[in-house]
Amino acid sequence: MEKILYELKEAFDSIGPYIQRHTSMVCPSCPKVCCINKHGHYEKEDLVFIRAIGLDDTDCKTDRADTEPCRFLQENGCSLPRYRRPFRCTWYFCERLLESMKNDKPREYRDFISAFENLQRLRNKLLEISV
Ligand code: SF4
Ligand code: SF4
Repeated sequence: MEKILYELKEAFDSIGPYIQRHTSMVCPSCPKVCCINKHGHYEKEDLVFIRAIGLDDTDCKTDRADTEPCRFLQENGCSLPRYRRPFRCTWYFCERLLESMKNDKPREYRDFISAFENLQRLRNKLLEISV
């Protein structure tokens, strides 16, 4: 279990800069920012990892309306490290973001997809061994 938790956190960390690079290019001019509060809630699958690495989910409880800006959103983007965010915040690629990634150097895009698949594989493995 310890090994997979470590690998999973590494996998989140490894894809963070690539996604960040592209969100910083496309998000500032986005007419419909997707970081609303409803997306800042964990799903039960997220909590398996969050609790296993000893983090608390209580700071995710809020009275803020789902349609308001996410409580973790700050001027420079999300205030949470990627491994700490709800997983939807890592796999959701809107069309603008996807387009930006696909227009990247082919090698970098391929490496990202491969790292992303590894992240999903590890996450599924953790969910399997946790049932
Ligand atoms: S991820 Fe897409 S929808 Fe969300 S803020 Fe960025 S450009 Fe807009
Ligand atoms: S990326 Fe961060 S700020 Fe955006 S919805 Fe997710 S938790 Fe909230």
